[in-house]
Amino acid sequence: MRVAVTGGTGFVGRALVKALLERGDEVTVVSRKGTASASPRNAKLHHMTWDEIAASPQRLEGTDMIVNLAGESINQRWTEASKQRVLQSRIVAAARIAKLVTELNTKPEAVINASGISAYGNSLTATFAEDSPMKVTDFLSGVVEQWEKAADSIPVKRLVKLRVGVVLNRTGGAFPLMSLPHRLFAGGRLGSGSQWLSWIHLEDLVRLILFSMDHREIEGPVNASAPEPVTNDRFGRALGKAFGRPHWLPTPAFLLKAVLGEMSSLLLEGQRALPRKALENGFAFKYPTIESAMKEISQA
Ligand code: NDP
Repeated sequence: MRVAVTGGTGFVGRALVKALLERGDEVTVVSRKGTASASPRNAKLHHMTWDEIAASPQRLEGTDMIVNLAGESINQRWTEASKQRVLQSRIVAAARIAKLVTELNTKPEAVINASGISAYGNSLTATFAEDSPMKVTDFLSGVVEQWEKAADSIPVKRLVKLRVGVVLNRTGGAFPLMSLPHRLFAGGRLGSGSQWLSWIHLEDLVRLILFSMDHREIEGPVNASAPEPVTNDRFGRALGKAFGRPHWLPTPAFLLKAVLGEMSSLLLEGQRALPRKALENGFAFKYPTIESAMKEISQA
């Protein structure tokens, strides 16, 4: 299969590209950076910049699948300028893919567009599956709403909107920061500790992307989060246990708000989402519980 991965240089993208190459797919990584910095050690691995694609879209003729993971990181202080970059980078990437697909003579079989579990807004009590209505309750849920709307303009028969939960892996994404207090023997619940965390192990996310590529019956929103979401308190307990660290020192909400500003909502709020569509289509999670994920991460 010929696959184009936008944002393929990122935390999820690198793991996905590796898995695609391992199973023999041909991959084009689409990036803002020139190919000079890339070193294709694999004949099946190609690099293109967004500008090159705009100039010669026909170079991607014959692409079977596009996976869009591009977007400015949210792991930075949320200022008005950075919030605009977070939003605009996603809208622009989806619009560029829409233009590319329009220009291709043979359309890809599917486009898998990353999105976020915050599509449903924040709640302490509700449970969300793919048929739950989207709700804008804060900055991130607003970004996801506009991001998915931009993806809807991609003229492809099968559009998968992968609503990704917090991706866990020892070395990348949010985990190194999330686990820092515990690793410093100062871990405990954040705020009330009752806020929900819908999470997914990186390996399962990559497996679910491959599964979505291969299963033509999967389309529309797909919750990419483990079947057992946890409260912040349970997450901290599982983390402490796996790493042999105490879970005892609560961090009050006001302190996180003072230090992190609006970005503290990432830690103090959340939602309980279930991966109904993945499970109904026969996807088996390798790390279904937070304990199994923490065990793997602590031993990695
Ligand atoms: P990363 O931040 O690691 O990588 C995203 C990639 O997007 C980068 O490698 C970069 O590629 C590209 N990018 C960065 N800034 C911009 C910009 N301003 N304009 C255009 N492209 C940009 O993200 P992840 O791999 O962690 O996540 C992949 C996708 O999944 C993202 O869209 C993210 O929002 C979503 N997601 C991730 C979660 C997580 O926990 N990691 C949770 C929920 C959703 P390059 O420099 O090569 O252009």
